[in-house]
Amino acid sequence: MLASCVMSGATTSRGRRLRVAVVGAGPAGYYTTDFLLRQRAVLDLSIEVDLFERLPSPHGLVRSGVAPDHQSIKKVTKAFDRIASDPRTRYFGNVTVGTDLTHAELMQHYDQVVYTTGAATDRKLGVEGEELAGSHAATAFVGWYNGHPDFTSERVDLSTPRAVVVGLGNVAMDVARVLIQMPASLASTDITDYALEALSKSQVREVVLLGRRGPAEAAFSPREIQDIDELEGVELTIDQPESTLALDATSFSGDARKNVEFLQSVALRTQREAPRRVRLRFLSSPVALEGTGQVERIKLERNRLVERQGRVSAAGTGEYELMKTGLVLRSIGYFGSALPGVPFDTTLGVICNDRGRVTATPGGAIIPRLYVAGWIKRGPVGLIGTNKTDAKETVDHMLADVESGPRHNASPAEVITKLLNDRGVRVVSYADWRHLDELEVAAGIQRGKVREKFWSVASMLQALDARAPVAADG
Ligand code: NAP
Repeated sequence: MLASCVMSGATTSRGRRLRVAVVGAGPAGYYTTDFLLRQRAVLDLSIEVDLFERLPSPHGLVRSGVAPDHQSIKKVTKAFDRIASDPRTRYFGNVTVGTDLTHAELMQHYDQVVYTTGAATDRKLGVEGEELAGSHAATAFVGWYNGHPDFTSERVDLSTPRAVVVGLGNVAMDVARVLIQMPASLASTDITDYALEALSKSQVREVVLLGRRGPAEAAFSPREIQDIDELEGVELTIDQPESTLALDATSFSGDARKNVEFLQSVALRTQREAPRRVRLRFLSSPVALEGTGQVERIKLERNRLVERQGRVSAAGTGEYELMKTGLVLRSIGYFGSALPGVPFDTTLGVICNDRGRVTATPGGAIIPRLYVAGWIKRGPVGLIGTNKTDAKETVDHMLADVESGPRHNASPAEVITKLLNDRGVRVVSYADWRHLDELEVAAGIQRGKVREKFWSVASMLQALDARAPVAADG
């Protein structure tokens, strides 16, 4: 039925041409592109996708979020590269939408626009002392060890014996693992050299993982907490183990049950001597970070669980405790950023949308030809693969709207290229990226690592300028 849309818009030998701008080359951007390109067999549409990315390098959180000791997860980039190599895809790296190109220009030059910009910032704890030196958002710490250009100047002081990680999600597991494991076990990964050096000199010997609720409410996946337990030279313990043992594991299901059963086995066993330790502390909330110019202590309030509207929540008991620490990593979730001209829900940190169709306000009218996918659509939850089903939902709506939505004549492909050239924007093509990729892998081989990343935009552009010119489009 959708094939009837051949009557509208520019046409080619394969029917109507649909030009789409996808903004953000992380997993959601690639999966959106992939689902769009796969429509060839189903619809009489000739779809072209221009994929825009603020950084020269693509792959989003797979490059700058996934922990260096989780290399197998990064293999998904091979599929991403295949998607980008499709001749119907053009990659525009080093292009910031909102600065180099406006949202209005995208809407003018493309038939449809999809934002897949993720959730780049962190949620705030909202406690006194949060801004002290030694207090970092986990997002910044992750960006730092992964060489994300926005975070390489983060000053991470690892001279404290105890670090406290606030939050019990999988990001908290990642940062705890990177902080506490023997640095030698990271040496052959793609962790940046500067982070490896800092971790090699780290004095951190204990990481306290702080959960505001109980063991059954922990957000980590069973495998992630078990991975911590399996780290060489690291002992996992539970503060106040009796409260974990008091739970009836059979009253929970799924991951909660698996977590409770595992944590009870940890609580029951005799503690082993180990040079490094991870302590799980449940039912505790940070209420202040204290110190003179630098975090020296974290003030904790003991919580109890209360059930409100079917959800188990933490409520403070008024009992406080001070814990010494020089490093606090706030791992309480990512938060999306607004884009100029695009409706944003400041409470949820997402672009206002109805299952992928952007709306003028939360629950408001649909804005034709404008879409969203990934974390900036549904919030910062789910694994990389979750973005597949999410992108499919958005693309299904995009294709359905081609038939029923307002007609629009996109500009020819050259228009955007010329616009960016005229503005002096140094566009990085996919061929450029593949060159950088080869340089990184080669630099890694020299060091006995998977790769050594470029960790500044300037160094990436310099490396490209130092090479013989290549074709404009990758
Ligand atoms: P998350 O799973 O939402 O976990 C956030 C944690 O912060 C929860 O424990 C939450 O506790 C806690 N929290 C929130 N507000 C708090 C506050 N004010 N005070 C104290 N604690 C607070 O988020 P995430 O860890 O950033 O992960 C984001 C997504 O990426 C998740 O879906 C995760 O599974 C995924 N991810 C997966 C992997 C992997 O599979 N290896 C790695 C990294 C990330 P409550 O539960 O009480 O709200």
